[in-house]
Order: sequence, then structure tokens, then C-alpha cells
Amino acid sequence: MSTTTNVTFHNYIDGQWKASVSGSTFENRNPANTDDLIGLFPDSTSSEAAAIHAARRAYDTWRLVPAPKRAELLFRAAQLLVERKEQLACDMTREMGKVLDETRGDVQEAIDMTYFIAGEGRRMYGQTVPSELPDKYAMSVRQPLGVCAIITPWNFPMAIPSWKIIPALVCGNTVVFKPSELTPLSGLNFVRVLEEAGIPPGVVNMVTGGPAVGELLTTHPDISVVSFTGSTAVGRLVNQNAAPSFKKVHLEMGGKNCIIVLDDANLELALEGCLWGGFGTTGQRCTAASRVIVHDKVHDQFVQRFVARARALRVGDGSRPETQVGPSISEKQLDKVMGYVRIGREEGATLACGGRRLTDGAFAHGHFHEPTIFTNVRPAMRIAREEIFGPVVSVLKCASLDEAIAIGNDVMYGLSASLYTQDVNRAFRAMREMNTGIFYVNAPTIGAEVHLPFGGTKATGNGHREAGTAALDVFSEWKSIYIDFSGKLQRAQIDNQ
Ligand code: NAD
Repeated sequence: MSTTTNVTFHNYIDGQWKASVSGSTFENRNPANTDDLIGLFPDSTSSEAAAIHAARRAYDTWRLVPAPKRAELLFRAAQLLVERKEQLACDMTREMGKVLDETRGDVQEAIDMTYFIAGEGRRMYGQTVPSELPDKYAMSVRQPLGVCAIITPWNFPMAIPSWKIIPALVCGNTVVFKPSELTPLSGLNFVRVLEEAGIPPGVVNMVTGGPAVGELLTTHPDISVVSFTGSTAVGRLVNQNAAPSFKKVHLEMGGKNCIIVLDDANLELALEGCLWGGFGTTGQRCTAASRVIVHDKVHDQFVQRFVARARALRVGDGSRPETQVGPSISEKQLDKVMGYVRIGREEGATLACGGRRLTDGAFAHGHFHEPTIFTNVRPAMRIAREEIFGPVVSVLKCASLDEAIAIGNDVMYGLSASLYTQDVNRAFRAMREMNTGIFYVNAPTIGAEVHLPFGGTKATGNGHREAGTAALDVFSEWKSIYIDFSGKLQRAQIDNQ
């Protein structure tokens, strides 16, 4: 049954909801049932520069609002998110597909981040240090940078925008936000909350659309910061496009994360972690545990139980309470998953369970795929090296912790890793040796909390971190200030020798 609603949504520019300059739109459909048209959104293009101009004008006044006052508006926004959590989660499940418990978690993450970062409005600590010269003060303060372009993916449609927009605002920047074209409603819901919380016109602007408007935001001379989360391929392009105008570029990109299960692990605990890490969010997390590296002493036993548990996972519409694994976000994403299942077979891995698209009955109009496990996977295989972003887990064997660490590190990405062991010495060795931005012991690769830095090494990131107070480093820059009250010229490094 079609549940077409035909709602047309708009961009948000300078405090006004407006159609795109071209007037063209794109559709947003429910990935569990593509007959369900959620609405039409502006297909913005390079003609949407008005959003950047509005943000540039608003910057002149917003940057001068005291940070604690800016934060008061953000606290109000957090409260509105709390009040609307259930409706926001339902909207998110409808457009993104993940199960309601997870979309509630996504909204909760936005709430946590907004409260946490709003608190920075009264801190944003700088340094005061003794001067090397008499009668002189030395200190540093954080300065905003200007207009920030915020470009986000679809898998955390409210949490990720909040990780970027809220710290940008508390630091005194203004924002032009482009949500993923696959989840524009959650982006828009977040902006509505900011509008209702009293964020002044022009301070936050939103333009929906795809690469064309993304390119405008990464090349326009009035943009000072680009904060991007998405694939490594697009991140590279964003970096290249932003380089000629020397924008500050913050990139959070792909992952190929692993869970290491050693021979002394609590296997039941490891099993729970691998199921949640591998198949939570249908494997569509940047931190998904798409590789499980198991010690050969427990390998067969572990695999047997892992496969049995994966087979029993209930796939379905994320809005139904019994569902554990929702659909892939799109037909394109599902094609990618099926492509990798084919590649895994051709490479000689053993398909231990799953491997098929689900099309019968309730699955007929959605992008559903069975939870899939490959065993006998070797580190050189593409399924063990490339990000699939779907419900596909590769199991590899190791004979020691050292071998597991070598396999774990031997990929281009470096986001998250985890180790299951009862041995504290092995835990600390792995903690030091895994070249990732995030590491877990006796917990899966997912589960980051908002008050610690989040991000990855190698092709996952470009050295910045979001979340925690590290987020402030992306959205501010230091100004060092010296005040000489000696009344005479004092030459540093010379007059004090
Ligand atoms: P994507 O790279 O296809 O798109 C990300 C965003 O970039 C979207 O808003 C898209 O419209 C925009 N975009 C596309 N082309 C552009 C261009 N030429 N210029 C500017 N913007 C452009 O990624 P996706 O499919 O939305 O998300 C999945 C990817 O995101 C995965 O690789 C996943 O690992 C990654 N991800 C990483 C993190 C992290 O924190 N490291 C978190 C979530 C997702």
C-alpha cells in the first residue's frame, strides 16, 4: 500500500524556509517500504550561495554574543530534543531504516552532545602562562573562524550533525549545513529545533541536495571551515576542492574495524559484542565490526555459535518492535552489499550464513539482506580490506595476539578496534599497538560516548577529532595575547638574558 504524503520541504536560509533557486526537488523514501514517500526536498545546486551570504552576515553579530549566552540557546535546544525524542526517532526510522531503539539512541546522542558542548560556553578554557619578562601578561583565547560548512552522511542523521553544528555555534561560528540527500528529514528536524530554541536568523542555514551543493560549500571563498563525515572517496574530493582557498578541513571517513577474540576470552560476551558490532545498524556504522579475528584454539567453537546466532536475527522494518536488523539505506547500498558477497565467494571465502537479498512478502518493497558471515577469510581478500557498509562480517583466524594485531592494522583505515581477553597484559599491549583512534576492551567496536574525542587514523581521518572538547579545536583557532604593562620596550629572548 502506498503511503504517499506529498509533503514538500524547504531549505532554511536567513531564518526563512525557501524552495531551492532551481525549484527542483528530490524524493525521500522509506528504505523498508519504498512505496512510502516521506516527502520532496529541494535539490539545491551551486546557485544556493544565498545561504553562505546569510551565514557570513550573521557571523558579524553572533561571534560577539558572549559564549555563555550562545550556550543558553543550545541548552534550550537540548531540552526541545528531549521533549521530542520519540517523534524524532520515529521520523528517523522511517527515512533511514534502523530500528527504533537505535534511532532513539541517535537522538539521545544529539541530546548528550548538545548538553555537553553547551556547557563549554562557560569554559572554553585558554591558557594563562607566566611571561618571561617582568610586568607582562601572556595568555591564549579561542577565536571563532567564520562560516562553517557542515556536510554529513545518512547513517547517524541527527547525531553527526549535532557533533558538528553545536560546537561550531558555541565557539561563535555560523553554519551552512548540508545533510545527506538520503536523510534530509532528520537534518531538517534538527534545524527546526535550533530555530525554535531561538538561534537568530542566518546563524544556522540548511541546504539539501547532493554533490552539486556540496561542491559549492567546499569551494566558496566565504567558507572558513569544512567539517565533513562520509566516505573516504568523497572526503578526498572535499579536501582537494577546499585546498586552494586554504580552508580548515575536518574529515571523518570510512572504517574497516575489527574485534579480536583471544583464546582466553569470555566467549559468550564476545559473541554478543560481535553480533551487535557486526549487525547493529545493519552494519552501516563507520565503527561496525566487519572483521572478527579469532584465535585458532577457540575459532571453530566461536564460529559455530556466531553463525547460529546470526541466522536467528530478525530482519525487518525498523519500526516494528521485534525487528533486530533493518534494511540497507538504498538500492545502491544493497547492490554494493550483494557485490561484495559475490566478491567474497569468488575470492574463495566460505559463505557460512546469509548471502541473499530478501524479497518475499513484507520484504518485497524494501532493501533487505540476510545477515551474512564469511569464514576462511584471508587478510588479503577484498572482503577483509574494503568497507562494505552492510550486514556482512568476515571471520579471520589468528594464532597469537601479535598476529591478530598485525592483521587488524593491515588495512587502510584506522577508526575503531576491540579485544576480548581476560588477560590485562594482553589488553594493554593491544591498546598500545592498534593503530586506531578508538579502542575497546571486552566491548564491541561501537559505543563511543560524547565526552571523549571521536575519530580515526590513516584513511579514516585527517588528524582532527570530533566530540569531547577536541571538537572545539576544529571550530576555533588560538589567539595568543601579550600585555606589557612595564611602560618600556621589552624584547623577548633578548632583554631577559
Ligand atoms: P558519502 O561520502 O557518499 O556522502 C557524505 C556526504 O557528502 C553527503 O552529504 C553527500 O551528499 C556529500 N557529498 C557527496 N559528494 C560530494 C562532493 N563532491 N562534495 C561535497 N559533498 C559531497 O557518504 P555516505 O554514503 O553518506 O556515508 C557513508 C560513509 O560515511 C561510510 O564510508 C562511513 O564509514 C562514513 N562515516 C564515517 C564516520 C566517521 O565518523 N568516521 C561516521 C559515519 C559515517
